Amino acid sequence: MTESVSVSIPQWDVLVVGCGAAGLSAAVAAQQGGARVLVLERAPADERGGNTRHTGSWLRMKSVDEVSDDFIDHFAANAGGFLDPSMVHMASTSRESWPPTLRTLSFADPEVVATFAEEAPPTLRWLQGFGVRFEKLEVPFLTSVQPRMAPHGGGFALVEALASEFEKKGGVIHYNTAAQDLIQNEDGVVVGVRATGPRNKPLEYRSRAVILGCGGFEGNAEMMTRYIGPRSLYFRSMSKGCYYNKGEGIAMALAIGAAPCGDFGSWHASPMDPRSDRAGPSIYIYPQGILVNQHGQRFVDEGPGPTDETYEGVTREINAQPGGIAYAVLDTTLAKVKHPGSVVRSEVPPYQADTLAGLAEQLKIPADALEATVAAYNKSCQPGTYNEADMDGLCTKGIAPRKSNWARPIAKPPYIAYPIISSIVLTFGGLRVTPQARVVNQQGDEIPGLYAAGETMGLYYRSYTGATSVLKGLVFGRLAGMDAARSVRG
Ligand SMILES: Cc1cc2nc3c(=O)[nH]c(=O)nc-3n(C[C@H](O)[C@H](O)[C@H](O)COP(=O)(O)OP(=O)(O)OC[C@H]3O[C@@H](n4cnc5c(N)ncnc54)[C@H](O)[C@@H]3O)c2cc1C
Repeated sequence: MTESVSVSIPQWDVLVVGCGAAGLSAAVAAQQGGARVLVLERAPADERGGNTRHTGSWLRMKSVDEVSDDFIDHFAANAGGFLDPSMVHMASTSRESWPPTLRTLSFADPEVVATFAEEAPPTLRWLQGFGVRFEKLEVPFLTSVQPRMAPHGGGFALVEALASEFEKKGGVIHYNTAAQDLIQNEDGVVVGVRATGPRNKPLEYRSRAVILGCGGFEGNAEMMTRYIGPRSLYFRSMSKGCYYNKGEGIAMALAIGAAPCGDFGSWHASPMDPRSDRAGPSIYIYPQGILVNQHGQRFVDEGPGPTDETYEGVTREINAQPGGIAYAVLDTTLAKVKHPGSVVRSEVPPYQADTLAGLAEQLKIPADALEATVAAYNKSCQPGTYNEADMDGLCTKGIAPRKSNWARPIAKPPYIAYPIISSIVLTFGGLRVTPQARVVNQQGDEIPGLYAAGETMGLYYRSYTGATSVLKGLVFGRLAGMDAARSVRG
């Protein structure tokens, strides 16, 4: 490692890495706790805010006072792999009695999840104090099963409210500066970071606590391939904010012995139009038609259940297809849904043709294969009452894979198609933390002076608990900031 050049920088109580939901919540909370806080941010000032800046910031909440009914159950159902039953039993006992192995186990810690649910309402009320307004969302897209709230103005409003609160009270942000390594003293306490400033300048910052709120590793091609696999080549970032998240927060903590948590081999997948240049160009309309791969063949049940609960699994199947791409093929009758802007978020119009052969030509897929696939699918559709607003059980018969809902023939030209790939919204792998967001080492002990929040902390396995990622940053960022301020003052 190159020796860092110490520059004349004042001592800070709390050093926060990252300037998204997690970092800014941590910074403001620590400042409110009386700490002198410095934020390091890789991006320039006019692009600050990471992924948070680009998101609509849906929150899995019924109201400002309550998380959704299934909040804890969804995490519990996606707590890890096939967990050892005795460990699961022990996890329900008091934390103090947990053996070290349990404290380091890679699973969704029930106490962390319970704290998450409990602290969400006070966190939203705290944000209201900075002028953020929360509103209940209309049915977001086809058959939503859980309510959602969102800040008025989305994630950008959160970033602006928190950053201006922080700066108004004298908080300092060093932009164009990326943290690289943690500095520890002889007792193992984290006492600062080494960073790279503009023009590759090595910098060293000393502080009494460090909070990592610097996202996941979705912007690091090497880590993506190493952890998620070579098919990550076919992903595209859900927003340009992803490019700044290169995984150093996770890597630097693992390098000093932190325990990992969250599924390092997985990611939050959303079906995206690769032609679009905007943030979040998701295509949720595919349940109204069929999905075919580059060979013109169906490969997945397009309507297995509520779209917002199933799109991630379908998107992973799309990624597994040749070239990581598929096409949603519909006719215009099927495209007439109630909330078109909600189910098609791309600004690019679909491919359109009067014949399936003409559509296939535009998609560069074999026309005879597409015609045969649509004919077989149409034949398998059964009579029944179509219902857009709920699962209608209108399923195919005698075809594999079957389509379990909204199966209506594709028969009224013009035909349309949207290309769909998997976006990378966020990575699941991160750091193991306590309910106070303190990072735990591989022996089950807390690493003194080190915290992680947001995407940098790991919590997700199997299927992403939708609309909890921004909330995770806000809740655990605030808890980390409060705890760090208390401990440095104490
Ligand atoms: C289009 C889109 C829509 C989304 N919709 C939703 C939604 O509705 N609900 C939801 O919950 N989630 C949603 N997400 C996901 C969500 O936005 C993110 O998971 C969340 O904002 C992460 O917050 P964070 O603070 O952990 O990370 P970020 O907001 O990404 O912030 C990380 C910050 O750290 C900085 N950084 C990275 N590395 C370093 C370093 N080494 N040194 C210094 N700084 C560094 C980055 O520049 C960035 O500013 C969406 C994402 C996108 C892109």
